[in-house]
Amino acid sequence: MSVISVMSNKGGVGKTTISINLAAALVRQDKKVLLVDFDPQASLTTGLGFVRDENTVTIKHVLEKVINGEKLNPKEGIQQHSEGMYFMPSCIDLQGYETSLINEYGRENVLKTHIDCVKDDYDYTIIDGQPSLNLLIINVLTAVDRIIIPIQTQEYSVTGLRVYFDFLEMLNRRGLNQRLVIDGLLPSMVNERTKESKAQLAEIYKDYGDSHRIFFNSIPHTVKLQETSSHGVSIFKHDSKSRAAQVFEILAKEVINIGRERSEDRNRIEQPTRSGKKLKTRRAKGSADKQAAHTV
Ligand code: ADP
Ligand code: MG
Repeated sequence: MSVISVMSNKGGVGKTTISINLAAALVRQDKKVLLVDFDPQASLTTGLGFVRDENTVTIKHVLEKVINGEKLNPKEGIQQHSEGMYFMPSCIDLQGYETSLINEYGRENVLKTHIDCVKDDYDYTIIDGQPSLNLLIINVLTAVDRIIIPIQTQEYSVTGLRVYFDFLEMLNRRGLNQRLVIDGLLPSMVNERTKESKAQLAEIYKDYGDSHRIFFNSIPHTVKLQETSSHGVSIFKHDSKSRAAQVFEILAKEVINIGRERSEDRNRIEQPTRSGKKLKTRRAKGSADKQAAHTV
């Protein structure tokens, strides 16, 4: 029942591609997964090969119903992809809808209200947002429990990432989402063979290796991943033997393990010892655990 988003304030860093392929990889680990397209560009919807028509119920229609207090079937609008993941399409009208949201009471929590009603049906809900730091993205940030931050290594800048962390800290100070945890930084579009890429990865480790988890495998820059969206499939369907497919399989296992470690930590907090004292969490002990549980 984790709600995750692959997020950054930069476009074109591979967020949508990672969301789709992570979802497909989780399905292959027997997880039930819902993808929610919350980007007006709808690249997740098209990347799954879905063609909308005038009758398609999108996330924008669903949110309108939430705001109007209309009766809503939690399954409304949800489609299923041939590879098993469920998804909720988006549409360009969502962009204009941001303006109507501004005047709504509880405007930061409209998406959360809906996600809270549907998430129990899935092991993972993955929300794909847009790169801007606007009200739509604040809605994503209040709805999720966990975020993964992709970093395109060629474009890496410590200042760029700082802006994003400052934004997350501002939300946290305002109490918009106290549950939010950063799972880690995920180097993406990495050209593994070049010296520059290695140097950029070393730079990321130097700047953030002590404070954040950096995912074990980087997402490689490969035409295979680029091709997946035009075919409307994941890398597992497109080329299951590729390095990219292996990387996504490992990423899904890492994501599952991070969730497990956290719930073990929570159980340790809640379980009293015979003497009545609460057990210490592993989190308090070591830097590795600190990495795994970095809260914004
Ligand atoms: P974002 O959601 O961050 O805007 P996308 O996932 O839409 O990024 O990717 C932007 C473009 O880069 C798309 O054309 C996509 O096919 C391509 N792309 C994404 N990931 C990779 C990758 N690892 N290697 C090569 N091309 C990629
Ligand atoms: Mg995108």
